[in-house]
Amino acid sequence: MLVINNVTKKYGKFVANDNISFQVGDGEIAVLLGPNGAGKSTIIKCICGLLRFQGNISIEGFDNKSVEAKRIIGYIPEVPVLYDMLTVEEHLEFIARGYNLTDWREYAEKLLRIFELDDKKQKFGKELSKGMQQKVSICCALLPKPKVIIFDEPLVGLDPHGIKALKELIMELKNQGAAMIISTHMIDSVKEFWDVAHIMMNGKIAATRVKEDAEKSNEGLEELFFHITEGKGDQ
Ligand code: ADP
Ligand code: MG
Repeated sequence: MLVINNVTKKYGKFVANDNISFQVGDGEIAVLLGPNGAGKSTIIKCICGLLRFQGNISIEGFDNKSVEAKRIIGYIPEVPVLYDMLTVEEHLEFIARGYNLTDWREYAEKLLRIFELDDKKQKFGKELSKGMQQKVSICCALLPKPKVIIFDEPLVGLDPHGIKALKELIMELKNQGAAMIISTHMIDSVKEFWDVAHIMMNGKIAATRVKEDAEKSNEGLEELFFHITEGKGDQ
C-alpha cells in the first residue's frame, strides 16, 4: 500500500507537483497519464525518495525515505542507468548482494528468460542496446520482489516481444499483490490493465477515473485524456 499525501515539489519557483494526493492499494495498478512535462516523473522521483518535497509519502506504513520503505520499493526509471563495466549477470548479483537476497538465482534466470536476455548474460552494460538496458533495469528492480513497483514510461524503447513480456509480467505481479504505478503518455499501452487512472496536467491531478466507472459510462481513457488536456477540465 502506497499513500501520497499533499505532495508539492518546486524546482526553484517552478511548481512541478502541486498538492498531489492519491493511494495505491495492494494488487492495484494506478496509471499516471499526462503530456510531456505534466509532472509524472517528478512525483515518481518523490515517491522513490530521490527528491525533497513538501508533504508525506508512506509505503506499507513506513516513511518513504526510511530503509524499511526502500527495501520494498522497486523503481524502473525513465532512462535506464546501468554500470558500463558490469555484465548483465553481475548487475543481478550486485542487486542480490545489496539486498541480502538468498535463493535469488532461479528468479533471476526466469526474469532474464522472460526478456530474452539469457544469451546476453556475459555482455557488459555498455555493450547493450537501449532496449536491452531497459530490460536489465526491469530485471534488477524486480529481483528483490518489491511490494510497491513504480514504472516510469516502461514501454518506451522496448521491442514488441519486450512489451508483450512486460505486460504479462505486470499482470503476474498484480495477481501476487504488488501495488504498482505506471506512468505513460501512450494511453493505448495501458488499456488492458489499469485499475485507476490519474490524468496529470501542469503538475496537478486534473482527473481521476476508476476502471469500473469508466466501463459503466462507456467513456474511454482517450476521450477523457483529450477532454482534460485540451483544457475543458473535469466538470
Ligand atoms: P513528465 O514526466 O510528466 O514529462 P517531469 O516531471 O519530468 O514531467 O517534469 C515536470 C516539469 O518540471 C517540466 O516542466 C520540467 O521541465 C520541470 N523539471 C523537471 N525536472 C527539473 C529539474 N531538475 N529542474 C527544473 N525543472 C525541472
Ligand atoms: Mg517523465
